[in-house]
Amino acid sequence: MNTGTAWTARFATVVFDVDSTIASIEGIDWLAERRSAEVAAQCIALTSRAMAGEIPFEEVYTHRLELIRPTQVDLDALAEAYLASVAPRAAQLIKGLHAVGTTVLLVSGGLHAAIEPLARLLDVPAQHVHAVRVSANAHGEFVFLDGAQPLATQQGKPRVISQLDLPRPTVMIGDGATDAAARGVVDQFIAYTGAARRESVVAVADAVAEDFVDLVPLLLAIAEPDEEDR
Ligand SMILES: [Mg+2]
Repeated sequence: MNTGTAWTARFATVVFDVDSTIASIEGIDWLAERRSAEVAAQCIALTSRAMAGEIPFEEVYTHRLELIRPTQVDLDALAEAYLASVAPRAAQLIKGLHAVGTTVLLVSGGLHAAIEPLARLLDVPAQHVHAVRVSANAHGEFVFLDGAQPLATQQGKPRVISQLDLPRPTVMIGDGATDAAARGVVDQFIAYTGAARRESVVAVADAVAEDFVDLVPLLLAIAEPDEEDR
């Protein structure tokens, strides 16, 4: 008798958002809080309105960077904060997805430099990590986008995902309006509410997950036993 559960993939590709999904923090807001209470209040208001779909993401992205003026030290501290705030059982689920041959991507509107160590922890290869690259001014403050950065825009996720020619079926998992915007280019959209529940996002989702335990049956199925096990 087969005692171990054998799993099979429901999707060939799983795309995860990072902020308020894989990790419980919002990276840009976290940097703002590190800067000052006043900067934090300004940035949280901008982020919240953008994620709720009230104002275009691209309008607030560089404005927030200019308010925060993050340095390399700040980005390194944010990387540590991401590692400390990984959602319970996220690493186990991603390991399980890799084990059944699922392609796992992180597609984020967050800062690439701060997300890289998190991706390494989760064994997500560098070519499957897509986020926003920024560059520094003469004072070492990362206030500029490093060329065209589609993920700093409202429609960045559908644009990036559609250009990747990913194995199908595909599923996007995230908490925000920029994740829900990917619905047209993936086969399913799952609203993740473990860190933040946004009703406008839940309303358009094919399924809702409160935590990574909820995600297991949505992403994996129990394999039919082989003939010899029957
Ligand atoms: Mg998010």
